[in-house]
Amino acid sequence: MEFLNNLFSEITGFLGIDRLMEILSAGDYAAFKTYDGITSLIFPIIPLLVLLELGLSLIYKKPQTKVYKVNFLIYVFNRIVGRFIAIAMVVLLIGLLEPYALFHAELTWYWFIYGYIVWEFAHFLYHYWGHKVRLFWCLHATHHAPEDMNLSVTYAHFFLEAPYADTIRTAVCILMGVPPEMLFAIMLIDGTYGAFIHVGENLMKDGRMGFLNKIILTPSHHRVHHAKNPLYMDTNFCNLLLIWDKIFGTFQDEDDKIEIEYGITRKMDSGNFMDVYFGEFVALYKDVVNAPGLKNKLMYIYKPPGWHHSGEYQTARQLRKEFIENNELKK
Ligand SMILES: [Zn+2]
Ligand SMILES: [Zn+2]
Repeated sequence: MEFLNNLFSEITGFLGIDRLMEILSAGDYAAFKTYDGITSLIFPIIPLLVLLELGLSLIYKKPQTKVYKVNFLIYVFNRIVGRFIAIAMVVLLIGLLEPYALFHAELTWYWFIYGYIVWEFAHFLYHYWGHKVRLFWCLHATHHAPEDMNLSVTYAHFFLEAPYADTIRTAVCILMGVPPEMLFAIMLIDGTYGAFIHVGENLMKDGRMGFLNKIILTPSHHRVHHAKNPLYMDTNFCNLLLIWDKIFGTFQDEDDKIEIEYGITRKMDSGNFMDVYFGEFVALYKDVVNAPGLKNKLMYIYKPPGWHHSGEYQTARQLRKEFIENNELKK
């Protein structure tokens, strides 16, 4: 019975419906007007969409089995190992850094916009370094391994990536005066929307969402981010707002003539949990061991993926630049 009880609470935990069920069984419907009640309604949205997407993929006989299988294993592994690390980091950092905040923003709607722009900047930083610094790429690459796109990709993360991301995002926001209550509200929106942008083509064929594609970051932009085509690689690092990609020149629209190829450029087995989870660390370890001299060994750790000590290499930035220049020549 103990096992069945645990299984039941794991399932309600995954679906995010624990709190919702408590409110419903207590009959306390007024609770839905509180912050706690509203979040109890938001949390189940993505897990339910994941199941709907999985259901549709079975109906349309495009099961993407590999992606679901590995992402399910990752979800279970992260639940066991990385459960509380990120939460603990956030709480610790808030306590440590709040006294050093430049100022303290108030809880008003206009300061909320300020807070969100600061958060998005911090997200850009974490995500940009996750692609441009080889060691951080080891943490982030798990998320880019899937060769198909669907909502289960939301769960595909190395367990130390959340503490790494939240350290940067929390530190920047707290130092820039974002109050903790506002930070948690932003995290809720960012987490939910950040999950939604992984919606698969089964649920949403065209990810552009009409005119919104011009204003915010849509599933279409994030599909581009997950692509390994030269034009698309290392673009669209933002999550909901587009501003920082526009400012730093990393914005890229989906081009109808270039079909998205999902995944990473390293030869890998995307159906193998060990390769998806630890493969980049193994590759980095080999490069460091084989590199001549201490300087080269260190450079492998902080240079962008693709860097080679022989000098003959191409990073994503060079591949993209070359692709754009060649295309300009053809015109
Ligand atoms: Zn990424
Ligand atoms: Zn993603």
